[in-house]
Amino acid sequence: MNTAYLLLGGNEGDTTLYLQSAYGLISASCGAIIQYSPVYQTAAWGLQEQPDFLNQVIAIHTTLSPFILLEKIQDIEKELGRQRTIKWGQRTLDIDILLYDDVVIDTPLLTIPHPSTPMRRFTLAPLAAIAPAYVHPVLKKTIQELLDECPDPLPTLRLDINLH
Ligand code: AMP
Repeated sequence: MNTAYLLLGGNEGDTTLYLQSAYGLISASCGAIIQYSPVYQTAAWGLQEQPDFLNQVIAIHTTLSPFILLEKIQDIEKELGRQRTIKWGQRTLDIDILLYDDVVIDTPLLTIPHPSTPMRRFTLAPLAAIAPAYVHPVLKKTIQELLDECPDPLPTLRLDINLH
């Protein structure tokens, strides 16, 4: 059994509803969810009229290989996009594989650990909430250390909601 950490994020439509739908779809096709971080709210970069993002990290136990897991999460992104009625097919929830055990993969299709993790507070804050002592297999630093050093100026607001 392998442990993977997934980042869920969205700022289109009812993101809390998409997060809840994602829990069911991920449990059914990827593996059991073993941890949920709190949900964090972050302002969108650039255009001010964009709604804020909600982000959450979940840990799953999975028997799928990293590449099959990527296929499954992309299917789920499509499925959630189809649930949206106004803009058919628009992606409403982004799902990234942040970590997969201590696996290191660097291909055009899939990079693990996810390369933007050390630069993004909205990724590190929820990840550190559930896996602070996890050692990044390339940088050899804990997630908490990476968060403490993170240069991202965008603050993240931990929300007091529980969706699962
Ligand atoms: P994005 O639009 O940011 O969700 O990027 C999606 C693309 O990133 C997909 O085509 C994936 O093949 C690629 N990708 C590379 N590494 C990862 C990863 N660790 N998790 C999810 N997508 C990835």
